[in-house]
Amino acid sequence: MMDIPIPQPEDPAMKQMTDIVIVGGGLNGPSLALGLAQAGFDVMLVDARPAPARAERGFDGRAYSLAIASRRLLQAIGVWRHVAERAEPILRIRAGDGRVGHGASPFVLGFDHAEIEEGPMGFMLEDRFLYAALRSEMANEPRIDLRSGETVTDQGTGWVRLGSGERVTARLVVGCDGRSSETARLAGIRRNEWDYRQTALVTAVHHERPHGGTAHQVFMPSGPMAILPLLGGHMSSIVWSEERNAATAISALDNDGFLAALRPRFGDFLGEIALAGDRFTYPLSLSLAERFVAPRVALVGDSAHGVHPLAGQGLNLGLRDVGALVDVLVDASRRGEDIGALDVLQRYQDWRRGEVTTMALGMDAMNRLFSNDNPVLRLGRDLGLGAVNALPGLRRRLIRQAAGLSGRMPTLLR
Ligand SMILES: Cc1cc2nc3c(=O)[nH]c(=O)nc-3n(C[C@H](O)[C@H](O)[C@H](O)COP(=O)(O)OP(=O)(O)OC[C@H]3O[C@@H](n4cnc5c(N)ncnc54)[C@H](O)[C@@H]3O)c2cc1C
Repeated sequence: MMDIPIPQPEDPAMKQMTDIVIVGGGLNGPSLALGLAQAGFDVMLVDARPAPARAERGFDGRAYSLAIASRRLLQAIGVWRHVAERAEPILRIRAGDGRVGHGASPFVLGFDHAEIEEGPMGFMLEDRFLYAALRSEMANEPRIDLRSGETVTDQGTGWVRLGSGERVTARLVVGCDGRSSETARLAGIRRNEWDYRQTALVTAVHHERPHGGTAHQVFMPSGPMAILPLLGGHMSSIVWSEERNAATAISALDNDGFLAALRPRFGDFLGEIALAGDRFTYPLSLSLAERFVAPRVALVGDSAHGVHPLAGQGLNLGLRDVGALVDVLVDASRRGEDIGALDVLQRYQDWRRGEVTTMALGMDAMNRLFSNDNPVLRLGRDLGLGAVNALPGLRRRLIRQAAGLSGRMPTLLR
């Protein structure tokens, strides 16, 4: 085991000492804080965002598709019970080529939840419910010292400095601080990044006909569009990836203009549509940290890997990181090892980095293969989708993968 000094608390500049500092209170940070605190670690979670107002936020149009495995983790950390009634099960997935004004291609890859034993392949959950549930569960956990509206401004091996000037020592600092992770930068971890030159236009729509729990992935020449079922049957979340300049022009339109641009892409299979939430734009890029760990530092979620949203896997991957890191640290602690030692953290990296890289590159390849209008490629991929659809063994493997049920499963996800 490497001998890494932890600064001693006798130093008068050090006011606080804890087992683990988590930087970032998005979705992965709070999930990790709960998993670690419930396993017996003392945790400080520092998030730049101020504490939300007590009143529940209205629907803002942001929602996530959560795989079965992610639901299990949220259940294990006590969060799912707060949101179960608000999650819409995904019963079917349909994926295929599409063209503006032409609707979806007849060659469609379709999955049904009845093809696996575990039930719905996943759930759609609005950001406001998930975030509020994580916060309320953290408020009940005495081992979590929650610092909202506070930033980590500096960091060394085994310590961080907060914006307030306070210096906190810890055995481990975990970066859950998103794609522009300062935790990674300050630890000297570089990133591989490339720009997709696409922007995701995100919103929600009401529709006349019920969605029946079906998630649609339509591959348009300028980028994929996901239509994902939300609670109540008549509302869906839209993640519409467009070539960057076109997206800028579309996002500048007023709501009527935006709907006029959306309709020929969305098609009329759900009847009339109307906007149901705010509109957001996310420039899309791939961002992979070269390493997920350094002495006394680990990266989790988007700070380690930011992927294309076409298969809705970003948060699901982050929650698998959470489960894997909890397993590695609990195991190390039981054996009396130093949880911040590089050889311990390396086990987490060995577990996660390969799977994440494969998934990130797979989505990248799919985006490249489908985001074009080359007639030869179009025919090839239509035939390919048709062929996959006809192979029950392969279909089952793909469904289990989409549900997060393949690969090495952390304890919290089992
Ligand atoms: C259009 C789109 C659609 C998506 N849809 C899905 C989906 O359907 N399913 C899915 O699984 N994933 C989806 N994702 C991915 C998912 O949104 C992300 O993977 C996830 O939100 C990342 O969460 P995080 O907690 O790692 O990081 P973030 O949400 O980026 O949180 C980082 C936090 O760190 C804080 N922070 C940063 N720096 C500091 C600092 N120095 N000190 C203190 N705090 C700091 C910030 O305030 C922030 O709260 C989608 C992404 C996009 C763009």
